[in-house]
Amino acid sequence: MKTADGRIRDAMRRYLISRGALAGGVLYRARGPLPRGEAPDGTGSRAPAMPAAGAGDPGEPAAPGVRPAATGTVVRTSPAGPRGAACAHGAQDRAGFTRDTRSSLQAGLFEPGAAAPPDLSALDLEGLRAEVARCTRCPLSATRTTTVFGDGDPRSRIVFIGEAPGREEDLQGVPFVGRAGKLLDKMLAAVGFDRSGVYIANILKCRPPGNRDPNEEETAACEPYLARQLELIEPAVICALGRVAGQALLGAGAPLKTLREGTHRYNGIRVMVTYHPAALLRNPNLKRDAWEDMKALRKVYDGTA
Ligand code: SF4
Repeated sequence: MKTADGRIRDAMRRYLISRGALAGGVLYRARGPLPRGEAPDGTGSRAPAMPAAGAGDPGEPAAPGVRPAATGTVVRTSPAGPRGAACAHGAQDRAGFTRDTRSSLQAGLFEPGAAAPPDLSALDLEGLRAEVARCTRCPLSATRTTTVFGDGDPRSRIVFIGEAPGREEDLQGVPFVGRAGKLLDKMLAAVGFDRSGVYIANILKCRPPGNRDPNEEETAACEPYLARQLELIEPAVICALGRVAGQALLGAGAPLKTLREGTHRYNGIRVMVTYHPAALLRNPNLKRDAWEDMKALRKVYDGTA
């Protein structure tokens, strides 16, 4: 006999299947094949470590290239993160939800099948931000402090995308604050970007309890907001920060090592993947490779790769 948790997940799955959004454990929207494998430049010399802020070449960006036709996007599954952590909302269960949230789930208050996907096509960025602020399309609406929509210059030709808000982001409503955010600022400055001149967002607009990875239902529920956000910003390049963001944008299952190779496409926008700054804080030895990624990203942005 299924548990209540299983029944809730089944209800979510039935709804997603009914929308054609879920098949074989992989969430996707059929937009044609996903071009892969555009070779990176790969000619830059290696640096011993990520330079300090301001050490990069702030050269003028080149004009954006012609945007190709829309292509496929795949939203993937993700392994579970840390479980059972405590938060301001109380002790959490194995899925990271508090007892109150679990009760709401069992009462059907957050069942995705109860709410049709919103029509976002007429919304501008501020309208979209307001729509996100009142969103209850997934259970994370019950545990968030505030939504984290995005930050930076909406006219930017480059967008950086992380996986989901963390504790500080959830409190402040701004992506990439705290230690990881400060390191991201340095990574940007190292290749001549200023935080105020780029746009930063996440796959999810609400914090998963205990900072666990987003699950497939949450990713599928939130994906329309990111898709519309990117449609409005029209960046030339996306930089996915970390495996979770890279997999959500590009496809299920590929390891970060593979995702970091070359450039990819999301709805016709060039995508590159590098480490999440939090991973670099945990393992500074990765900064060497991250520096190579950032140099390659800059070349793609400049149109020289
Ligand atoms: S994570 Fe996204 S889909 Fe879920 S409640 Fe927040 S805004 Fe809505």
